[in-house]
This record gives sequence, C-alpha cells and structure tokens, in this order.
Amino acid sequence: MKLNTPVHKNESFDGTVMDLTYQGMGVVKIDNFPIFIPNALPSEEISFGVTKVTKNFAFGRVIDWKKKSADRVEVKNKQYTQTGIAPLQHLAYSAQLKFKQQQIAELLQKDHLDIDVLPTIGMDKPYQYRNKAQVPVRLVRGKVETGFYKRGSHELVPIEDFFIQDPKIDAAIIVVRDLLRKFHIEPYDEKTNKGVIKTVMVRRGYYSHEMMIVLVTKTKKLPMVQELIDGMTAQLPEVKSIVQNVNSAKTNVLLGEKNFTIFGKPTIDDQLLGINFTISPNSFYQVNPQQTEKLYQRAIEQAQLTGAETVIDAYCGIGTISLAVAQHAAEVYGVEIVADAVEDAKHNAKRNKIANAHFVVGKAEEQMAQWQEDGLEPDVIMVDPPRKGLAPELIDAAAAMAPKKVVYVSCNPATLVRDIQLFAAKGYTVKQPIQPVDQFPQTTHIESITVLSR
Ligand code: SAH
Repeated sequence: MKLNTPVHKNESFDGTVMDLTYQGMGVVKIDNFPIFIPNALPSEEISFGVTKVTKNFAFGRVIDWKKKSADRVEVKNKQYTQTGIAPLQHLAYSAQLKFKQQQIAELLQKDHLDIDVLPTIGMDKPYQYRNKAQVPVRLVRGKVETGFYKRGSHELVPIEDFFIQDPKIDAAIIVVRDLLRKFHIEPYDEKTNKGVIKTVMVRRGYYSHEMMIVLVTKTKKLPMVQELIDGMTAQLPEVKSIVQNVNSAKTNVLLGEKNFTIFGKPTIDDQLLGINFTISPNSFYQVNPQQTEKLYQRAIEQAQLTGAETVIDAYCGIGTISLAVAQHAAEVYGVEIVADAVEDAKHNAKRNKIANAHFVVGKAEEQMAQWQEDGLEPDVIMVDPPRKGLAPELIDAAAAMAPKKVVYVSCNPATLVRDIQLFAAKGYTVKQPIQPVDQFPQTTHIESITVLSR
C-alpha cells in the first residue's frame, strides 16, 4: 500500500536538520512531515535517504553532509551509534549537557510551566564511567561473540571496547568470551530458544575494585563450569564473586530468579560518600558512581535537613540515598519492591552502624498509603522512581502526609513533568530551578533533581 505521505521509502532528499529528539535523532521536515535521522545534528544540511515510512512520520539515513554542525565531534566507532550504546557520541560533550538541560526546559514550556532548569552538572572524563555491563552472548558467523544489539533489533554487533564502560570490565568480558570459545560453550539462540549462555553481566566497585561476574544461562547445567571458574579467577584477580543466574524463560528480562554462587561471595562491596554497600546481582545500583555522589549530595543539600527530620526514601534500592540521608536526619524509612535489595539495605545499615534507617519490601505506592494510615508524619519525602515515574496513588498518599518538601530524583523528564503537575494540584510547587546531573554521558538519558514544596 502506498501511503499518502510526502515521502516514500528509498526516496532521497536534501534538508536542514531542525531539532534533536529526546532519542538523539535529527529531525528534518518535508512539507511539515517529520523524518527522524540518526547521526544528524541541528543546523546541519544533509542529503538523506528514507528508510521507513509510517502515517505520521518517517525514518531516514544520512547519505552526505553539505554543512556540518560546529558541535559535531569525530565519531570514534560507528558501532556506538549503531547499537545505541553511545547514541550521542557525535555531539560535543558541552552540547550534550545543553541538550539535556533544554530537553527538560522544552517539556516544561510545552505544558506552560514557569520553572527554570540549571545547566547540567557534567563529568570531567565523560566516558569509561559505567561500573556495570550486561552483554548478550551470541553465535555470529559461527563464532562466540559478545557485544551489543543493533538499535531496534536483536542482531548482535560484536564489540570489544565499549567506550562508556570501565575498561577493566571490557577486559573481563573478553576473558569470559575467550573461555566460552575455548570450552565450546554454546551461546543462546533466540530463534530456536536453545543454547546455554545468554548474557554476561559484570559489576566492578569503583572504590573497592571488587568484581562480580554473573553468567546468565538458559539451562541449569553449565558444562565445564570448573574450567570456566579457574580460567576467570586465574586471569582476573579482582574477581570476588562468580554467580550463575538461571533464566530459562523466553523473555527480554535479563536476570532470572535463581542465583547460584559458584565462586567466592554472593555479593560484592563498594562505597558511596564514604558508606559501605553490599550489592547483590539482582539489586539496582547506580551505574555512574562519580556522578551518583554529586547527585546524592545535591539531593541531600536540597532537602535542607537539620538532623531532626523524619524522611521517607521511596524506591530505595539497596538503601544508598537512605543511608546517606540518615546522618542528617532523625529517622529514615525506605521502601523497595525487590526483596534482595531490601535485604542488602538492612545489611548495609547494620554494617555501617546506622540505627535510624528502616526498610520494608513493597510497592512504594502501597507502602506510602500504609505509612499514611499508620500516622507517619515525614518532613521530607525523597522519591527516585524508574522511568515510568510515580503512581498517582503515591502522589495522593505523599501529599496527604503533608511533608514540607518532596525531593524528586528523576530519570525521565516526561514523567517528571507529568508528576510535577499532579503535585501542583495538591498544593506542591517548584520554587527552585531543576538541577540536571549527567549520569549517562554519550547517551540520551536525562537525570535531574526537583524540589517540590508546600
Ligand atoms: N534510590 C536507589 C534506587 C533507584 S532505582 C538508588 O539510587 O540506588 C529505582 C528502584 O525502584 C529500583 O531499585 C527498583 O527495583 C525500584 N522499584 C521499581 N518499581 C517500584 C515500586 N512500584 N515500588 C517500590 N520500588 C520500586
């Protein structure tokens, strides 16, 4: 069927890039019809081919540049843009920071919200920052490969230098890949749903240098397991924990429920703001430790604690924000949905001799309502939800407890702006500018702190 659109697949055009979407794609308009084009920056004049057309928009691919942006930097490796590991690598870092500030500002303007956004706090060295990698293992042209999926597909692009990951993690992945090759361990095949090894996850403590390797397998049986362990520990002296995670389901969820510690400890340790943390394989732990310290420090500063307050930390993970706040507050209550993470949080409180932090397993929206029913009177509520933002019930219960402040750490400006308006309906407004902190350089992810006060 030929769509009644101004452009069609395989046609080519010239145009000027008008905008950069939140996914980092350049936007060219032909007769007001938007075409989204990777690796194209605002102000650039390009020739492009149309690769896909839908009713309301199309996708394209740059054929040639007639004029390049002053903010364009040399692309290190085409695969980083191809795979979406580093979709903004072609944009100068200073421009990435501005882009993130503007993304939040534009969403606020669109909803007529008069709130300022501060310049994004960036990194001195905006690469090799990730303390965690999760790489699929697949057979590519008959060879066991580790890498990353091509954007929008499940086609593996082999990669050895991941650019944004701790290089020690990249090196560990190569060691594991070579051992899998040596011992002929069969990689998972999505088409047939067969094979043994699905994913390799590696975490490395930024301060502790403790390394954890998680082998995610389709089958309970992992052939040559002792040989693999001996190979990893001989070549990677930082390894303190090797875990086999069995995930037999045909799913996009990375980790299964069952962990078997096959070498060393079931967890590793790291520090943040001088506090020791134990981290389980299934627990969330911020991936950019240097920026996380800046983020938490800001969030705590903005909460303006005197030491007398009761604080709630919703979506508390392993208790990182809670324990950092505990030193500045009377009592802290954390809630988190992943039971292992709450176990970690309780253990972390104990080992740091922090007695005024309390943790429960549950859905934040339900627990918030429970605390309200129990008559808890928090002075400050801190929230750090996943991308989908806050549930309306959580906002209702939070507002009903009438805290002076809600400190909102957000990883998705779209749901942040939605939730700011829901809080406004409850009498909470934003009086200080929003502070973005770049947790994910070279990518389009945007983290920020907002303070709502009554
Ligand atoms: N504040 C922590 C974790 C933030 S990530 C830190 O900075 O490390 C968000 C956390 O919310 C994750 O740990 C996730 O498991 C948890 N989560 C997701 N949905 C939830 C819900 N409905 N209720 C409670 N926790 C939830």
